Amino acid sequence: MVEHWIGLANLPAQGREFSFDDQDVWRKLWQEFHYDMEIVVPISARLNIVPQQDGYLIHGRLHGAIKTMCHRCLEEAEVTLDHDFDGFEAHEDEDLVEGEPNHLRNCDTGWELDVAGLLWEEFLLALPEKMLCADTCLGLCPQCGKNRNLEPCACSSPGSQSPLARALQGIKIKTN
Ligand SMILES: [Zn+2]
Ligand SMILES: [Zn+2]
Repeated sequence: MVEHWIGLANLPAQGREFSFDDQDVWRKLWQEFHYDMEIVVPISARLNIVPQQDGYLIHGRLHGAIKTMCHRCLEEAEVTLDHDFDGFEAHEDEDLVEGEPNHLRNCDTGWELDVAGLLWEEFLLALPEKMLCADTCLGLCPQCGKNRNLEPCACSSPGSQSPLARALQGIKIKTN
């Protein structure tokens, strides 16, 4: 897993703001997790990290835009990222599920945070469930495979067929 550690030693009690604008890390993460994505507007991340007795309070924001494939028509879809998040990273994470990475580590120089790991989780939360070129995208025809945004195809959708036509189609399938 791509990692990018930043030192958290000597943070003032009121916390400190970190910014993270390394686009290469995003590209490496997409490659690693097989996401077909491109940067449209550089992804910037701001993290406000406040030290606590047993960990760090993290308030952050992800901003930018990416290009990927539309889930319905397989053409390009642009997704704007504008995601605020709040979290807590504990020194000793007792609730940590085995195999799940901890984003904190304790080094000789003090605590460090893996920004790449943390931001990747937030990036996934920032993505919409279905990435579409447009909310109105008609997608591909399940019968002929044509992009229905570009041209209407001759196939009729089952919904528009008469009950008789549907019944006949059913018979045809059965005898095949
Ligand atoms: Zn589409
Ligand atoms: Zn069709």
